[in-house]
Amino acid sequence: MENIKKAAEAIKKSSHILITAGAGMGVDSGLPDFRGKEGFWRAYPIAKNLGLSFEALANPKWFDINPKLAWAFYGHRLKMYRETTPHEGFNILLNLPQDKFVFTSNVDSQFQKAGFSELKIVEIHGSIHYLQCTKPCSSEIWENNENIEIDEEKFEALNFPKCKNCGIIARPNILMFGDFRFIEKRVNLQIARFEYWLQRVDNLVIIEIGAGSECV
Ligand SMILES: [Zn+2]
Repeated sequence: MENIKKAAEAIKKSSHILITAGAGMGVDSGLPDFRGKEGFWRAYPIAKNLGLSFEALANPKWFDINPKLAWAFYGHRLKMYRETTPHEGFNILLNLPQDKFVFTSNVDSQFQKAGFSELKIVEIHGSIHYLQCTKPCSSEIWENNENIEIDEEKFEALNFPKCKNCGIIARPNILMFGDFRFIEKRVNLQIARFEYWLQRVDNLVIIEIGAGSECV
């Protein structure tokens, strides 16, 4: 209790707040956090049948060798994030009067959906709502406005986005495991804005949510 009081006092006195958030932030909105192999397989039983962990499935090689599987996985998540309403906790943070910046490893863009500024966020692992070429033929990143139809039973995408420049299969602008083709342009711009913001911060409080393996 004493710690909560201290934290509340620190927030009250602060002028700037840095919110750092991981997968745990989405749990109260009903999103899976893929914690451990079992957690991931609960969300994606088909991956269990295939013997694939999150790390094994979230690999860019699937866009080359099995694009239907790759886009079933990302297309399903895209649909889920589009349909999810951010929980009340986002609003509580949003309504704090301080100047706020978000630094998150989540790719779901739930902070923007809740009303946080696109200009005050770092999505360090990228965003599922943006696309890039799988090759990539250029460093272009564009918004994903497409609907991916999925045969849930077979866990196969029936359609997938194409690169707007060369026409081959496109992929989410997300940093995957063993990924040497992730285009960092968008995240680098976000980091530059973050560094600019940090230089002007005086009384900073950091709120970490759903980012650790233990709760203290
Ligand atoms: Zn291309």
